[in-house]
Amino acid sequence: KSQANYLQIYKQSLEEKYLRKLEILNELKNALNGEDTDLAMFYQPKYHIQRTRVEKMEALIRWHHKKLGFISPELFIPLAEQAGLINQLTNWVIRRVTFDISHWHGQATDLQVAVNLSVHDVVNPKLQRVILTALKEFKVAQNKLAFEITESDLMDDPQTAIEQLKLLRSAGFELAIDDFGTGYSSLAYLKSMPVSELKVDKSFVLNLATQKEDQTIVKSIFSLARNFNLQLVAEGVEDLATLELLAQWGCDWIQGYYISKPMPADAVSGWMNEYSK
Ligand code: C2E
Ligand code: CA
Ligand code: CA
Ligand code: CA
Repeated sequence: KSQANYLQIYKQSLEEKYLRKLEILNELKNALNGEDTDLAMFYQPKYHIQRTRVEKMEALIRWHHKKLGFISPELFIPLAEQAGLINQLTNWVIRRVTFDISHWHGQATDLQVAVNLSVHDVVNPKLQRVILTALKEFKVAQNKLAFEITESDLMDDPQTAIEQLKLLRSAGFELAIDDFGTGYSSLAYLKSMPVSELKVDKSFVLNLATQKEDQTIVKSIFSLARNFNLQLVAEGVEDLATLELLAQWGCDWIQGYYISKPMPADAVSGWMNEYSK
């Protein structure tokens, strides 16, 4: 084929990608506005190694579109951020999570649930009010909610972000730094971050049992975190060998398929009762 032909094909595929993004954004707007939404929240256990129990969950959004099929949050969250839709999406998430918590029973009523925030949410002055309104409406105690913020996002404008995080912290919410180790120059800011938890990114954990380099990285993150008095969480734990290494190094919490995949809201109470037996 000629050069011009290749260029034509390349242009076409760019155009298709762009149109697909537009379609997804348009559908996302509908999903956020409609009553009969196809968005859902799933929950993944955080297991405390020393206390040998699940005491927390992370809330993860799921989107199963009627026509487009399953759409990953790795795809539509960044799109929502670019399009200025993320605050609206986060409002939806906070309300849905609070609603779900209010319907759990048995062991599940003690769970604390962490919601993922975008940096656009952290700097949104209305965030506190959205959270407090939802807690009040669904009669959920403040300590049932916590928040996770990705490290690299915070570094774009650390000063503003830190001020806002301090407000959340002083309102009593536990905060975690997410995906730790994937960002840059984070060490200098760690001391001024009002967070209580540090989540080691799953890219260092998935092959921990066999990768010596990952072991070195995780061990040094742990010794750093201990000096800052932070609770340690490892995400992406898929096997017992990894759990045992992490336990040996003093990790506090683990999360991953070895404990459970994320599950729908109405499975949480049953799962907790079964798991606690
Ligand atoms: P994240 O916050 O780092 O979430 C962890 C991701 O790892 C989740 O992917 C989870 O399903 C997956 N995971 C958990 N355990 C394992 C494991 O053992 N092995 C493997 N291979 N993966 C595991 P998910 O649910 O696709 O979410 C991807 C990202 O999308 C999240 O990364 C988060 O950044 C974002 N996200 C998800 N839900 C929300 C939300 O409600 N709001 C916002 N702002 N972002 C969200
Ligand atoms: Ca997270
Ligand atoms: Ca993470
Ligand atoms: Ca991530």
